Amino acid sequence: MTQKRAVIIGSGFGGLSLGIRLQAMGFQTTIVEQMDQPGGRAAVRHQDGYVFDMGPTVITVPHFIEELFSLQPGDQTLDNPDFPEAVLRAKRVREGVSGGTETSKYCEIVPILPFYRIYFDDGTFFDYDGDPESTRRQIEAIEPRDLEGYERFHRDAQAIFERGFLELGYTYFGDVSTMLKVVPDLLKLDAVRTLFSFTSRYFISDKLRQVFSFETLLVGGNPLRVPAIYAMIHFVEKTWGIHYVKGGTGALVRAFVRKFEELGGTMRYSAPVARIDVEDGRGNRSTGRGRRVAAGVTLADGERLDADVVVSNADYATTYTKLIDRRCRPWNPDFKVRALRYSMSLVVIYFGFRKTAEPLDLRHHNIILGPRYEELLTDIFDRKILAEDFSQYLHVPTLTDPSLAPEGHHAAYTLIPVPHNGSGIDWSEHGPKLVETVLGFLDDRGYIPGLRERLTTMSFVTPDYFEGPLASYLGNAFGVEPRLTHSAFFRPHNRSEDIESLYLVGASTQPGAGTPSVMMSAKMTARLVAEDHPDVAAERPSLSVADAAK
Ligand SMILES: Cc1cc2nc3c(=O)[nH]c(=O)nc-3n(C[C@H](O)[C@H](O)[C@H](O)COP(=O)(O)OP(=O)(O)OC[C@H]3O[C@@H](n4cnc5c(N)ncnc54)[C@H](O)[C@@H]3O)c2cc1C
Repeated sequence: MTQKRAVIIGSGFGGLSLGIRLQAMGFQTTIVEQMDQPGGRAAVRHQDGYVFDMGPTVITVPHFIEELFSLQPGDQTLDNPDFPEAVLRAKRVREGVSGGTETSKYCEIVPILPFYRIYFDDGTFFDYDGDPESTRRQIEAIEPRDLEGYERFHRDAQAIFERGFLELGYTYFGDVSTMLKVVPDLLKLDAVRTLFSFTSRYFISDKLRQVFSFETLLVGGNPLRVPAIYAMIHFVEKTWGIHYVKGGTGALVRAFVRKFEELGGTMRYSAPVARIDVEDGRGNRSTGRGRRVAAGVTLADGERLDADVVVSNADYATTYTKLIDRRCRPWNPDFKVRALRYSMSLVVIYFGFRKTAEPLDLRHHNIILGPRYEELLTDIFDRKILAEDFSQYLHVPTLTDPSLAPEGHHAAYTLIPVPHNGSGIDWSEHGPKLVETVLGFLDDRGYIPGLRERLTTMSFVTPDYFEGPLASYLGNAFGVEPRLTHSAFFRPHNRSEDIESLYLVGASTQPGAGTPSVMMSAKMTARLVAEDHPDVAAERPSLSVADAAK
């Protein structure tokens, strides 16, 4: 029998993870990427002797990575991760070991402590490291009355983590009934109120409300709007730690590419897909399913790649509105796609500077909060205006890995959440001004004293980068915004409702954005493909979607 073919549009972490899975399952898989390098948002910028990861830097849940590296051709590829075993791995993290044995054949992963240093606008800070004792000590110094609230927060966030992540993490919500089954649990856990209001129930201190709610911003979620189920992030970090891949996140991307190619997969770069080719099928007249079948893709230069399975890792809105003829998508018409809310965008500044005799008083991951929190979030997500104040995430990887900068120098990036391009802000005018203000702030406030004189290289991206080279609707940085009405069944589906043999994977699909989530989305999509192609998955025992939802 001839081997079935799969084409994946895009080589983000979702596309690469799925490529590894489909190739191991037995599909001859090709990943077509429009950029000249893999990784998507996790691309790498080489500049004046420095290496900058352009996107994700906080690596969590290392056993998801280990699971991908351990896949072999003909292996059972859709197994459930062994969570008790994974919990034990947390111990190894504390001992300074992150990656499993398979991971270490491809890259070196190390834990980072503290997870984050969170600076408040008055210059004080909170070192969050997941250790209950040090957390209690710091809470006591800020607001002793919040110690009791922390114990309750810890207990309730753990319950959300256990149900929402450990038990339901891989549930695919392809129909309403699957969702209705979990609603009573979510209500019982109080996981449907907004994260910020959830956090505010436990903490009196504004500072602590921020410490225990900001993390969703790293996956595009407004703490004022994401459901409290996202409190699980806190526990995910606490359980398995925060990690760094030596050489930068780009080293992990390259390792995924290597694994995919070793399994026999093919990478194609600088190969933008112009169209998903849809043909008429026999299908079901009443439901419309199967009447249209994805048969391959056509690249911008006219080359056609035939496939039995087509997967888009591109932005959800771009996939439906740009790559598929509107007559073929009654479930995803333009107005419905545009009616969804999209995550905020970012200005990211990549810069290098000289070291001085005085060591840098920063940590690997620094959150520098501005004077306003709720109001700033509302400016970014709702009013869509560029405020005068800002918060930022300052990443200094050379504190862990000097190899990313020339000797005697640091490489850093700082990321500032801003409205997406629905704002109408002219970034060619406002981008350079914001960059100057932010770098001046880091210098004047003493985060990097003398930065203006020490600066040796600098470049930046604005929402126009996300809208242009990354082809994201409105320049969103994280896909469809995570909010209650865009969760579970209401989040774009990993199996297209319109077109047979078409699937989606990545940040806009279920379960959501962030590197661990897009690896989960790849596993969900792989399960759907296996269900639809039992002949390919036949020799391998697999969990059905129905089993997974139990
Ligand atoms: C600056 C930044 C920092 C972040 N930090 C973190 C972090 O610390 N930790 C974390 O967990 N998450 C972080 N995230 C989120 C995380 O990076 C993303 O959720 C995740 O990487 C998205 O992966 P993806 O598979 O959805 O695809 P993407 O990375 O979005 O890749 C999609 C790919 O599709 C390609 N493509 C699109 N259209 C076409 C076409 N027509 N033809 C061919 N190819 C096409 C694109 O070029 C791109 O390569 C960050 C994101 C950003 C932007």
